[in-house]
Amino acid sequence: MALKVIKENCTGCGLCVDVCAYSGIKINDEGVAEVTESCILCGQCVDVCPAGALMMEEKKATVEDISDYKGVMVFVEHEFGKIHSVSFELLGKGREIADNLGVSLSAMLIGAEGDSMALEVARYDVDTIYVCNSTWLKDYQTNTYVAEAENIIRTYKPEIVLIGATTLGRDFAGALAARLKTGLTADCTELSVDMEKRLLLQTRPAFGGNIMATIISPNRRPQMATVRPKVMAMPEPVKNPDVQIIQVQPVSGPQDMLLDILEFIPDTAGTVNLADADIIISGGRGMKGPENFSMLFELAELLGGAVGASRAAVDSGWMPYAHQVGQTGRTVRPKLYIACGISGAIQHLAGMQTSENIVAINKDPDAPIFKVATFGIVGDLFKVVPELIRQIKYKKQ
Ligand code: FAD
Repeated sequence: MALKVIKENCTGCGLCVDVCAYSGIKINDEGVAEVTESCILCGQCVDVCPAGALMMEEKKATVEDISDYKGVMVFVEHEFGKIHSVSFELLGKGREIADNLGVSLSAMLIGAEGDSMALEVARYDVDTIYVCNSTWLKDYQTNTYVAEAENIIRTYKPEIVLIGATTLGRDFAGALAARLKTGLTADCTELSVDMEKRLLLQTRPAFGGNIMATIISPNRRPQMATVRPKVMAMPEPVKNPDVQIIQVQPVSGPQDMLLDILEFIPDTAGTVNLADADIIISGGRGMKGPENFSMLFELAELLGGAVGASRAAVDSGWMPYAHQVGQTGRTVRPKLYIACGISGAIQHLAGMQTSENIVAINKDPDAPIFKVATFGIVGDLFKVVPELIRQIKYKKQ
């Protein structure tokens, strides 16, 4: 988009200058409107111009020859020899997309123990695994991994590349998309396909979670998206005797490593194993204060679960951020999610609504959380939770 001034029509009336809150337009020495660097292309000036002297011009996007690109590829993330579960989740979603498009599903494995990890990846219904193995690729480093991934993508030309929205994945995906000069949609919560146009529909919350935006990448390939762990379902492993494993020669070398990694010291302070918990008991503003979370911890211990929190509870200082569930916290998909005194704002739901079973305890029968709840208990949590604890203890005796 560009804002164009049609000089012949401009009368220099200055209405455009008055309406612009960004000093994005001025009347120049010739007495006609001139667009400045501050213009944000909001189009307000176009609307007020009585002389039709301003227009928004569509800039034609460069269209690449995209017909060579086929197939769906998943980046397999690993750390200390262990594959991140989000990669398997993406292979499940990738399989669905590939089947819809009638193309193959591949995995890209960069590392030092690629061969043994490839056997694990092969169990997830993938057609081809590209393995790029070398000692200097043992640990993730942005430039070496991006160089190898760029080479694999330019050689095998997948039309879609999926990456986990983990700390590593976010770093990798952004750098890779920039290198490939293609579009990237971060933190997608839904992926589907426009079958007619063969486009990946990448849906994610936008404008503070108030709307869900579906983003497309029509002119560049591959179409790249990151997805947070636990957003997509974990597929079942299958027998896959036809999988093809292709060794790819590295294009980087030890001289390309910008860092010497001496030691990894895991940050265990304040971390909660929410992502792996099968049962999560979460508390919100309805808990009234930090001291009342002790009953949620007691319930969690009885059920073998973990304790989560809404942002309201975290912002109030009742629980550390590591416990926050939602759009700006953790995305979880436990077998059982018990929401205590949580209203069910869209940003909270974004992090837990795919849980297998949701039990909501809320005294307001109209609370939105009940719309996603499998079981709803309308009542005072200070009566319901202690009663639940009492009953479970009684049953365990
Ligand atoms: P409230 O909305 O105040 O709800 C409290 C509930 O407790 C009410 O429904 C009430 O009926 C109930 N209640 C009160 N007393 C009792 C009782 N005695 N017994 C039973 N029920 C009771 N929120 C998140 O949770 N996670 C996020 O990641 C997140 N990210 C955000 C990102 C952005 C950009 C924005 C703008 C907001 C985000 N939020 C997030 C905030 C979100 O919009 C809500 O404000 C928040 O989830 C509300 O938390 P709550 O449900 O605990 O509190």
